[in-house]
Amino acid sequence: MSTEEPTRPVDFIRAIINEDNASGKHAGRVHTRFPPEPNGYLHIGHAKSICLNFGIAREYGGKCNLRFDDTNPAKEEQEYVDSIMEDVRWLGFEWDELHYASDYFQQLYDWAVKLIKEGKAYVCDLTGDQVRETRGTLSEPGKNSPFRDRKPQENLELFEQMKAGKFADGARTLRAKIDMASPNFNLRDPVMYRILHAEHHRTGNQWCIYPMYDWTHGESDSLERITHSICTLEFENHRPLYDWYVEALGIFHPQQIEFARLNLTYMVMSKRKLLELVRDKHVTGWNDPRMPTIAGIRRRGYTPEAMRAFCAEIGVSKYDGVVEINVLENAVRADLNKRAPRVQAVLHPLKVVITNYPEGQVEMLDAVNNPEDPAAGTRQLPFSRELYVEQDDFREVPPKKFYRLTVGQEVRLRWGYLIRCTDVVKDPATGEVKELHCTYDPATRGGNAPDGRKVQGTIHWVSAEHALSAEVRLYDHLFKVPAPEDVPAGVDYKTNLNPESLVTLKDCKLEPSLAQAEPGTRFQFERVGYFCVDTVDSKPGKPVFNRTVSLRDSWQKIEKKG
Ligand code: ATP
Ligand code: MG
Repeated sequence: MSTEEPTRPVDFIRAIINEDNASGKHAGRVHTRFPPEPNGYLHIGHAKSICLNFGIAREYGGKCNLRFDDTNPAKEEQEYVDSIMEDVRWLGFEWDELHYASDYFQQLYDWAVKLIKEGKAYVCDLTGDQVRETRGTLSEPGKNSPFRDRKPQENLELFEQMKAGKFADGARTLRAKIDMASPNFNLRDPVMYRILHAEHHRTGNQWCIYPMYDWTHGESDSLERITHSICTLEFENHRPLYDWYVEALGIFHPQQIEFARLNLTYMVMSKRKLLELVRDKHVTGWNDPRMPTIAGIRRRGYTPEAMRAFCAEIGVSKYDGVVEINVLENAVRADLNKRAPRVQAVLHPLKVVITNYPEGQVEMLDAVNNPEDPAAGTRQLPFSRELYVEQDDFREVPPKKFYRLTVGQEVRLRWGYLIRCTDVVKDPATGEVKELHCTYDPATRGGNAPDGRKVQGTIHWVSAEHALSAEVRLYDHLFKVPAPEDVPAGVDYKTNLNPESLVTLKDCKLEPSLAQAEPGTRFQFERVGYFCVDTVDSKPGKPVFNRTVSLRDSWQKIEKKG
């Protein structure tokens, strides 16, 4: 276990494991699994589950499997399998065993035959609608299926014919014979198999009956001898069925433990909705940096260290809640603050001419790469007569306490000289400020005046002649309200998409060292935010930068004002 993750008080899941270890329930063995369905890309919620399952295995010297829960042929694809493996590894974990639920299809079939022979399962000819109609209500028991008392022999023959493809989709199901009067709906003769003539991404056309989730999950856990099967709260009501199946089969009995899923403000986190955003082109793809997918946040510049720290910080609980997105963003800031080299980048350039600086002269100024990390060393910045500064760092009519550029006021150029603005050059037609004329004090190289005079403001800059022109993409929350899914009936959550979630700046001026930056490298643009080189659209010598996160949380201010 690396030391970067903070230690936390024992949560309720680790408390259960500690008890089991103390009582010798599994002879001290701890074996978890992460069981995604390969029907989409993983998101930040999955990261919580991954950190929990793989993290527990690491802490207890146990094992964690990656298992693809691929029982739904219509929605699953190899692309998703590949991306899931990449994402788990990116988060810093490696599985002990790799499994596919589809590898258990034959075993599951054999076990179903066993239950049929023991009179614990039957073939039912009711349609899906009829099954629903006879299921009963909260206050009323369901009705027994007219096929419930079929003899095992007939059931066996029909089940074999189902498997052999004799019936159309939906014509029959195999159901467990449990209790149509159970207060738990999941125990009212749940469907174990459905007929689906669909090609599976791994088993091809070998099967035309597919096992249901409940009839797959616990059995797969048992086959892999999982000790603690950790899942989200919506499966709490399924636990009695999970237990019933493994007990009916008399096989190893893993313990299912439920925890609350992660929800974040300004985000949606269901694969179905994320797929919709991709299909309808509200984003450029699963790896759009605004997406809450692991692929998206990776491209945006989030680090696996920050994700693990975030998951440790939020912990696990039994109660659903929503985590403020700035908790996540602060974890990213805290990590990047330690590690990201500082650079100078001007996003909205305004030309400055230093009128008393010799034409054609260039000097190299020392700049510290990361004040948080002395080992990061220094670099040299070219300084010359013409510079760019941020438009925002100049005001003709300065508000109170404006310590930046305004006519007559002295300001410090980061790592450079003290300069004073003397004139403003405007476009005569539009009145727009075209450039500033300033003078510099040659005695202030490095930023300090030998006479000790005080200069409050420090601004960033780049040398015009040396600057790298680059595209910078300012990413913001994908949704403009904290709870995008909270919409009145009939209103689409997509109306809450933030129209300003991406602002593209085509001609930013960056310090020249950035021309060589490798895709994926992260930086702090001083005074602006954290940025990384886009891994998709950057070209050699022509990087595109993504804003990972601003330096401070600007949304909290907006909300308070609003
Ligand atoms: P979604 O509802 O987003 O489609 P899912 O639960 O269907 O997700 P699976 O592929 O079945 O996705 O999930 C794999 C594992 O990740 C499961 O154990 C599931 O409980 C867990 N998981 C999914 N979403 C979250 C979440 N938001 N927070 C924590 N764990 C999650
Ligand atoms: Mg699912």
